[in-house]
Amino acid sequence: MIRGLVFDLDDTLCDDTRSYHAAALEAARALALEHSVDPEALKDAYIREADGFWQRLTPAELGKSTVSLRERMWAAALADLGITDHAAPRRAADLYNASRRGNLALFPNVDEQLERWRASYRLALLTNGFSETHREKIALLEIEPYFDAILIADEVGMVKPDPRVFLHACERIGTTPAQTVMVGDRYDRDIVGAIEAGLRTIWVNVRGEPLPQGRPSPDAVIGEIAALDAELARWPA
Ligand SMILES: [Mg+2]
Repeated sequence: MIRGLVFDLDDTLCDDTRSYHAAALEAARALALEHSVDPEALKDAYIREADGFWQRLTPAELGKSTVSLRERMWAAALADLGITDHAAPRRAADLYNASRRGNLALFPNVDEQLERWRASYRLALLTNGFSETHREKIALLEIEPYFDAILIADEVGMVKPDPRVFLHACERIGTTPAQTVMVGDRYDRDIVGAIEAGLRTIWVNVRGEPLPQGRPSPDAVIGEIAALDAELARWPA
């Protein structure tokens, strides 16, 4: 019997990749005009910095000031293109943040799905993020009321795939791991640690990646969050 659902946020419930690529391009275009560099090259440099940061995220990074996190990523990207103007990173970060606020969105019908799931399950949101960036994102998406617990790595001091963070999510919603399904888009972050913690897992494989060889399989693989209901129907609530 399934009593709880734990959701990753970025690229599982909201189209984060589309949103931040669009925001990076908008900021890069403005800065590129002012500094005579190729906007696509500047955007790509920022994406490399940001992707690298989030992929390397470890507990040691948590608790550090994130006030200038985006500014530091932009400073590195701008330096890659030879731009060392001291005001440029702040300006790029401001443009980027403004664009993100305007273009961040849930995948289609996710709010209706959450409303429905809420009637049958205890719901948790579990994201590898910083309080500063992800609390704002959750507020913009207006999804807080759907969840019984919201766990942000920065606030709980643990990072996926640490199995303890999945157990902590279960505790927070009052379910056992065997009664709980983890739903997320990153095999190495969302799925592998949840399996180790004893949860059931549904991999939302939005990038069509192959299952890593010799690694444990999730209970199900879907291509988008819209397909989750059909999988949940296999297990009684
Ligand atoms: Mg994700």
